[in-house]
Amino acid sequence: MKVLVINAGSSSLKYQLLDPSTEEVLAQGLCERIGIDGRLTHKIPATGAKHVFEIAMPTHAEAIQAVLDALTSAEHGVIKSMSEIEAVGHRVVHGGEKFASSVKIDEAVMAALEECIPLAPLHNPANITGIKACEKVMPGVPMVAVFDTAFHQTMPAKSYIYALPYEYYENDKVRRYGFHGTSHKYVAGRAAAMLGKKPEELKLISCHLGNGSSITAIDGGKSVDTTMGFTPLAGVPMGTRSGDLDAGILEYLMNKYNMDIKEMLTVLNKKSGVQGISGVSSDFRDLEEAAAQGNQRAALALEAFQYSVRKFVGAYAAAMGGVDAIIFTAGVGENDAATRMAIASGLEFMGVKMDAEANNVRGKETVISAADSKVKVLLIPTNEELMIARDTAEIVGK
Ligand code: ADP
Repeated sequence: MKVLVINAGSSSLKYQLLDPSTEEVLAQGLCERIGIDGRLTHKIPATGAKHVFEIAMPTHAEAIQAVLDALTSAEHGVIKSMSEIEAVGHRVVHGGEKFASSVKIDEAVMAALEECIPLAPLHNPANITGIKACEKVMPGVPMVAVFDTAFHQTMPAKSYIYALPYEYYENDKVRRYGFHGTSHKYVAGRAAAMLGKKPEELKLISCHLGNGSSITAIDGGKSVDTTMGFTPLAGVPMGTRSGDLDAGILEYLMNKYNMDIKEMLTVLNKKSGVQGISGVSSDFRDLEEAAAQGNQRAALALEAFQYSVRKFVGAYAAAMGGVDAIIFTAGVGENDAATRMAIASGLEFMGVKMDAEANNVRGKETVISAADSKVKVLLIPTNEELMIARDTAEIVGK
């Protein structure tokens, strides 16, 4: 079965055409500058071919049409006709409390997605636009929504409730939702397979460390706590996001610098995190290079990040009453051996013993703890597209 996976942003759209049963990726790519001019980068993994096209994309519909044209083109296509695409899976950022699993998209689901817009005003409208564009260009093809928040709907109330007046939860749905759920779920499944155990038998802590980062406690296959919150701004410091901070700082800075809340949130979302501390970059490669050359603030940014991740790992081990394995995934988690080592190095007291040689790898599914480490440490490249395609195939197949 061939499934098209779509991840629509406000001016971009990532896609992958894959077969979830064989896990083969037939083609993948990216539409950029939608609404501005339009560029399509189309890659075919089997041959390593990469094509770049400048195509007018006034809206997402033209972008999807360009993707379909590329997929079916005589020169660089991978399928003969659009009818080979049996289903489309859409990544949707926020499913609120309505969606604890993936769903087939129909009118009622579209209405519910619209209702979730206030919870993710930057992301959900783009996801909805992507769905509508697909409906227009490929009418009748079944579509499934896969939510970043769904995996975390198993969190108990004590984990998701904020210590605010309860009516803000009851009336306004203010609670911890958590994100990156598709990734945390995927790596947890792979971890169980690697350890030869059932997910129900395991206590896992998965560290999705990328541009955005979140840590999740997974007990018996279920998310029981996670660092991101009502929005993806919470938790550990990220590339440009602050992570957790004292809300009192907002009033102090807004008064002092005459900022409105929009400006303040731009600072917290776009100018903070390791970028903010270092003043160098949000990219960990740049930070490590700068730190190696003696840049103190770059070194501090890295240390603050590692310290924060380590604290949550400790907290989640306490929350679950133990941990069998710690997982590293996403851009930083998969590629940055030094950061993994620095995070895990403070955890010997709880039975974590790294193997420096085994840890010296990138992007490969492997055990990076020592043979006698009580707690296993695993490197598992994430694969959100495969997860979305699997859910889509399963739901459409029913
Ligand atoms: P996103 O959250 O945007 O999906 P990714 O998971 O792709 O982000 O992670 C991107 C980040 O991964 C980059 O900003 C960079 O900091 C980090 N990264 C990628 N490759 C390396 C590497 N070789 N060493 C250190 N960090 C890396």
